Amino acid sequence: MTGRFAFMIDPVDIEEQRSDYADTFTQVDAAAPALSVGELSTQRGDGVFESIGVVDGHAQEVVPHLERLAHSARLCDLPAPNLAQWHQAIDEAAAQLGSGESVIKLILSRGVEHGPTPTAWVTAAPAPDFSAVRENGVRVVTLDRGYDLGAAERAPWLLLGAKTLSYAVNMAALREAHRRGADDAIFLSSDGFVLEAPTASLILRFGDRFVTPAPNGGILHGTTQLSMYEHLAAQGFETAYDRIPAADLPRADAAWLVSSVRLAAAITAIDGVSLPVDPSLTADLNRYLLSPRD
Ligand code: PLP
Repeated sequence: MTGRFAFMIDPVDIEEQRSDYADTFTQVDAAAPALSVGELSTQRGDGVFESIGVVDGHAQEVVPHLERLAHSARLCDLPAPNLAQWHQAIDEAAAQLGSGESVIKLILSRGVEHGPTPTAWVTAAPAPDFSAVRENGVRVVTLDRGYDLGAAERAPWLLLGAKTLSYAVNMAALREAHRRGADDAIFLSSDGFVLEAPTASLILRFGDRFVTPAPNGGILHGTTQLSMYEHLAAQGFETAYDRIPAADLPRADAAWLVSSVRLAAAITAIDGVSLPVDPSLTADLNRYLLSPRD
């Protein structure tokens, strides 16, 4: 099957910690109505999610995605997801996807207003064709994210570091980038440090050292960045997490936005100033990211 479909997870099973969940998903047509109008995910964006890349029926990096789902749920005071149950739902969805690239999304919401349980579902659909952007790269602009690097620790209710469903700000940043003639954006903290893109992590290269903003600064810890670091370290490169001043951006020898479905997109210009691009390393990174990864 290559069309869109979804599994609704049986509400009575979401909070149980059993290990066998054979009959707890109901497959539904993703084009048909499935959510109640009282859903807090749709009314308030009150929930968390994950997007998993699938290549030829192989769901990539499932465990790191499930670990981040659990981390996001903890930050949002949502029930701990039963990882065995989600793993099984992912396996069932991946088994039905055909060849080529697809995306599986996991959604855990606070549920229906005044309702007793959260709502959870898994969707599966073909991925957009990102081959051109992997080949040609992206022009980015820097945008102020409006908080400083200490905000995540000082104000945990801002949920920085959780992958919540509230992506309206991220989408607005992408529209602003397009208005400024760019393809994507890099968020900066109000105290002048580099954060992440609206839907991707940022990796910079300085000589043989690769560096990414430390995830304790209120950003997501990207599963693609983690996986790419393993690949780079295996080739003898140095990899690091750091505070990166915005002033360092134009000094980079190369830079990429990396994420689970688009994979590695080389940054070709920042705020209208060209950045060096390494097409053969970018192609190698995307070959690696398209290979089966666990
Ligand atoms: N940062 C943000 C804000 C994202 O939305 C994403 C992915 O959606 C990422 C980083 C990259 O995460 P991953 O590599 O796990 O897809």
